[in-house]
Amino acid sequence: MTFQDKLSKQAFAKAKNIIPGGVNSPVRALRSVGRDPIFIDRGKGSHIWDIDGNRYVDYVGSWGPLITGHAHPEVVEAIQKTAEKGTGFGAPTELETELAQEVLQAYPAMDMVRMVNSGTEATMSALRLARGVTGREKIVKFEGCYHGHSDSLLIKAGSGALTLGIPTSPGVSTAIASATIVAQFNDFTGLEDIFARDGQDIAAIILEPVAGNMGVVLPEPGFLQKVRELTKQYGSLLIFDEVMTGFRVSYGGAQAKYEIKPDLTCLGKIIGGGLPVGAYGGKREIMEQIAPSGPIYQAGTLSGNPLAMAAGLTTLKILQKPGTYEDLERKTTTLAQGLQSITRELNLPTWVNSIGAMFSAFFTDQQVKDFHSASTSDVELFAKFFRGMLERGVYLAPSQFESVFLSTAHSNDDIVFTLEQARLVLKSIR
Ligand SMILES: *Cc1c(COP(=O)(O)O)cnc(C)c1O
Repeated sequence: MTFQDKLSKQAFAKAKNIIPGGVNSPVRALRSVGRDPIFIDRGKGSHIWDIDGNRYVDYVGSWGPLITGHAHPEVVEAIQKTAEKGTGFGAPTELETELAQEVLQAYPAMDMVRMVNSGTEATMSALRLARGVTGREKIVKFEGCYHGHSDSLLIKAGSGALTLGIPTSPGVSTAIASATIVAQFNDFTGLEDIFARDGQDIAAIILEPVAGNMGVVLPEPGFLQKVRELTKQYGSLLIFDEVMTGFRVSYGGAQAKYEIKPDLTCLGKIIGGGLPVGAYGGKREIMEQIAPSGPIYQAGTLSGNPLAMAAGLTTLKILQKPGTYEDLERKTTTLAQGLQSITRELNLPTWVNSIGAMFSAFFTDQQVKDFHSASTSDVELFAKFFRGMLERGVYLAPSQFESVFLSTAHSNDDIVFTLEQARLVLKSIR
């Protein structure tokens, strides 16, 4: 069947009139790849179908949560069974303790964890907690790392290496922005300079230990260890935002892979099994400062929602099966290396960063190790690649600066199919 998007076009026209940009989150509008979005009808395993009837191998997985694939029968059953008992009570259920237990077992740096409803909420709450327990105001984040859209974190670097943050968006208060210092990923010397100047006022460093929101960028050997040491030296907290990497680069996240114990960890995406969940946790003496055991306020009407807890718990149980992560990594490597050998054959410069069940292939001749090097990628070429793949039945994240996500549902045939399409598309656009 040839690609069609008549119904998606109609649906988008309707949505645009009453929802800003026609979407409830900006990336869905596909603007950076120069086309309109397709509207999805359903998903099953590694595939999604749009409302025009096109089928795609899906590498977005709802932007990371669906590591067991779409509509996994066990996850669907857990949600259905839980829903029959009611969808929420605003009172505790045992499901919350059960999911907390599973999370703590996988992340030994955490003694306690609090559930929230999104990754944004998790990082925002972790920052408030860090400021509250240290009595300091300043935060360090890295350019290119994304931590949700709360004001303190919607900040980019100003000009020069050592600058206070400037808002990425109108509406972010400059007072809040000026409390956020922007550093460069993998640049430890720059970070030392920041601490030499402001260390006594820095409440926390927040980072994606493996960056996934400027495309996948790995920490250089020793970088995370040095960051851990520096924060200890200055009495600042180290916050790992593992909303994307948690249960994805390994079951225990990047902190297990790189053997670092952060003071606080933020989770989301996979722990909700496709439903809205976030979480933040850490050392007991820090976490006990949160209300009602402590004075630092944080709350949520739907936090710990039973449907979300059930979906998350079931997803984690599926992931605990022996061999899961070896298999995910094998498939990811096959696809990543396959893409790289095709681009080599075609003389298209690319740089691939791959870990666990995520990778990015950057159209650049440089080593990608930070925001600046990622930005050298040929985004026009990526846009053509995206559109070609879409029309040939492969749904990639619609930006050069996103990760490809594999799931347990992807088959070897899916990967072979994807590489075949990639070869045809890349041949036609190079
Ligand atoms: C997705 C993401 C967030 C934000 O999570 P939302 O659920 O979209 O609010 C925060 N941090 C990282 C690293 C993410 O990938």
